[in-house]
Amino acid sequence: MKRIAVFPGSFDPVTKGHENIVRRSAPLFDELVVAIGVNADKKSYFPLDKRVEWLKIVFADLKNIRIDHYHGLTVDYCLKQNANYILRGLRTSADFEFERSVGQVNKMLYPQIENIFMLTRPEHTPINSSIVRDIHRNGGDISLFVPELVSGLIEAWQ
Ligand code: ADP
Repeated sequence: MKRIAVFPGSFDPVTKGHENIVRRSAPLFDELVVAIGVNADKKSYFPLDKRVEWLKIVFADLKNIRIDHYHGLTVDYCLKQNANYILRGLRTSADFEFERSVGQVNKMLYPQIENIFMLTRPEHTPINSSIVRDIHRNGGDISLFVPELVSGLIEAWQ
C-alpha cells in the first residue's frame, strides 16, 4: 500500500517552520500532500491562489510533494486522497493538547488514519503565520520567518 500523508493547514502564509516539517517528513512517505483547508467562516489574510503558488515554489524541488486545497472536513479529504496519515507539527505543549483532541476525534471518524506528529526545530518554535501576518501588515521585515525562495514575493504582496 502506498504511504500517502496529508499535511493540512492554513499556510497563511507558509513559514520556515512549515518548510522544515515538510522537508524532514517527505522521505517518510511515498506522497505528501500539503493541503490548504479553506474555511468559509475564517477569512484568510493572503488569498488562496497566492498561498498555493508560494507553496508550489517552496517545494518545487521535492518530487513526492503535491500542493492542493480542500473544503470541508480534513478526514473526508484524506479519504478522497486515499491518505492513511495526517501530519502535523508540534511546537509547544499547547499545540500538543490541541492536536491531541483533534487527532483523536479524526481517528474516531476515520479509524484507518494515523496521526503523525513531528517536533519543530528549537529555532522554529516561536514562528507562526499570525506573527508573519502582523509584521507584514505593519511593513516590517518578514525574511527571518518565511522560506527564502518566497520571501520577496510575500513581502511585495499587498
Ligand atoms: P492551522 O491553522 O491548521 O494550525 P497552520 O498553517 O498554522 O494551520 O499550521 C499547519 C501545521 O504546521 C500545523 O500542524 C502546525 O502545528 C504546524 N506548524 C505551524 N508553524 C510551525 C512551526 N513554526 N514549526 C513546526 N510546525 C509548525
